[in-house]
Amino acid sequence: MKKENIDVSAFTGIHGQEHIRILDTIDRMRDLGINEDLSIPQIVVVGDQSSGKSSTLQAITQLPLAVDSELCTRFATQIVLRRTAHSSVKVSIIPGSSSSTDDATKRHLQEFFRSFDLDEFDGDAFTEVVNEAAAHMGLPSAGTDKRDFLERRFSGDVLKIELSGPDQLHLSVVDVPGLFHNPTKFQTKSDLAIVRELISNYMKNPRSIILAVMDARVNISNQEVFRLARSVDKDGFRTVGVITKCDALQPGDEKEVLQVAQNSVERLKHGWFLVKNRSTQDILRGVSLKQRNLNEKTFFQNPPWNALPKQRMGIDALKDFLGQLLLSHIRKEYPQLVKEIESLAEKTEKDLEACGPPRQTPAEQRRYLTRVAMTYQKKVCDSLIGLYNGDLGSKHPLKLRLNIRTINEEFADDFKHNGHKRVFKAVDGGLDNDFSRYNTAAVKDEEDIYEWIREVYRDSRGVELPGTVNPAVLEHIFRQQSIPWQDLSERYLSRAKDAVKSYLDHIFPSIIGDEDISSKLVAFIQPKMTESTAKADEELKDVLHDERGGVLQTVNRYMSENIAAIREERVMARLKAATQLDKYNQPITFALVSRVVHLSNEDHTVYDIHDILKAYYKVAGKRFMDNVVMQVVERHILGDRGPLKLFTPDLVADLSDEDLEFIAGESYSTSATRAELKSKLERLRGALGVAAGIPR
Ligand code: GDP
Ligand code: MG
Repeated sequence: MKKENIDVSAFTGIHGQEHIRILDTIDRMRDLGINEDLSIPQIVVVGDQSSGKSSTLQAITQLPLAVDSELCTRFATQIVLRRTAHSSVKVSIIPGSSSSTDDATKRHLQEFFRSFDLDEFDGDAFTEVVNEAAAHMGLPSAGTDKRDFLERRFSGDVLKIELSGPDQLHLSVVDVPGLFHNPTKFQTKSDLAIVRELISNYMKNPRSIILAVMDARVNISNQEVFRLARSVDKDGFRTVGVITKCDALQPGDEKEVLQVAQNSVERLKHGWFLVKNRSTQDILRGVSLKQRNLNEKTFFQNPPWNALPKQRMGIDALKDFLGQLLLSHIRKEYPQLVKEIESLAEKTEKDLEACGPPRQTPAEQRRYLTRVAMTYQKKVCDSLIGLYNGDLGSKHPLKLRLNIRTINEEFADDFKHNGHKRVFKAVDGGLDNDFSRYNTAAVKDEEDIYEWIREVYRDSRGVELPGTVNPAVLEHIFRQQSIPWQDLSERYLSRAKDAVKSYLDHIFPSIIGDEDISSKLVAFIQPKMTESTAKADEELKDVLHDERGGVLQTVNRYMSENIAAIREERVMARLKAATQLDKYNQPITFALVSRVVHLSNEDHTVYDIHDILKAYYKVAGKRFMDNVVMQVVERHILGDRGPLKLFTPDLVADLSDEDLEFIAGESYSTSATRAELKSKLERLRGALGVAAGIPR
């Protein structure tokens, strides 16, 4: 192949200050590597194999692209033209996103890099570098006789050629493998599927302008590329038709092509362009690209082609048009592109935050955990006084104070209905409503408290005088009556512990982005938590013992007032009954009153025990409930001695280096992820900085 230097004034179609500014912006974004994260407007050349895609692209870019190598293009080639102060050519491989590409392969592909001086990058150099790249991708290169034995024929990886120089204009064009229809020895059915997938991925991208290339000799109705284009670009704003090989038509066949070119067969919004590239012979004869352009001009000046409008024929017309189209396309896409960059930057920032700061040395780890501990303490304090994040659901575990209050109230309610073993009576002999059970149906099975007291009293009679009560009896009766306290309070405590546990399960992940760290941290403080909740159990035992194990006592005046009130009520009730029962209408005498007030000794004693027990039970029950709430749960579960207050900056300060490493040390993958996110964020921020210069 003859040496062919690149004409750096290529692509004169794009000009004008505004063009340059916006294209320059897109280009600088690409420089920053934004195209790794988002798709950037570019031109994609598609069509059948050997339809003349590479030849057309070559004419547009003036690059010595591989034309008619016996091995047709087997991977996409992205050509990026860029304007920079110094000229250079850089060739690299962008690994395809296919899932089969593992990290090692990716790294291997990314290692590929060649650079050239602009004037040494000729056709030969190009062919050589393409072959090297193909070999690097594990594809057969041209001239490999064993190519039909090789497994991979097409690759989703992209060969990227960046051509920069002071005179370059901004453009990104992708040359993709051609469509083919009949599997052969060299391209199997599965290749066909791979290629179709690859092409349609490029075409689907709403940021791609589709340059659909068609051989003039092929019947347009057979052109799959247009069917594909229509399916991805319904309005046709992104598709431009190009007809090649007009010079190769059989005489007489031109009429049909002319009709297509006039957009009367396959209607495209942007219409059709005709080009004439170098034929195989031309290339063999060494026709230069310059000469090609001249030949093309002369060719279209002759009939029947000269009947078509000039701006639809020849590579310059196509370039002009593409330049305009690309520009308006970029303008249209630009606001959305910037939005995408913004939201991606935001997301990246969050991801980065979630990684936390670097934690390689003990000092870094300690600093990190101290900060986490401070945040944690602040959150716990807020949760305990009922300051919650606004977006939490009604019973969210993070609403700690609310959940504890609910549990407290349920405890109180439970205690009111079920704290007593037997239901106390009202003076009229019915059950006292203050002690009613939840379940009224069960009431009929209730043991009569008077009967029970009578029995206990009889069984325990000792040396006391008739009509008086052995104090041990009251103690015994009270202990029996308050048996349910233990279960109720233990259940309450375990519910409070559960609320705290589920709070902790939620709070750590909410302040530590790294799941690994939060679970390690929890694992580390778990034993200490268990220790501290064990203190709550102890305390509850003590409180229970105070009430149910020792002597009965209270200084609460409510107790004596209550007893006096009940006794009075009793006398009144009996008086009333006696006067009503008196059939002979006797006057009320002292004798009668005295008979009513003083019952037989045993009845009197049973009622008295009941009334004292009830008065004391009320006082002791209230005291007990409050004590459990305050001294057990508040002090040992929620308070400073509880599991919530364990994780403090002080605790972090006391951690050994080994513990630090265990909890907060970072794996290689975390630091790699952080580095990657960091550079991505820098890219995106850089792009936003660039974008700031251009109004949307
Ligand atoms: P691709 O497979 O679509 O990239 O096609 P190429 O650009 O490699 O071209 C395939 C063959 O067609 C090459 O031998 C080119 O020289 C030839 N070719 C391309 N365009 C034209 C054209 O307009 N006229 C003639 N006569 N031959 C052409
Ligand atoms: Mg090609």
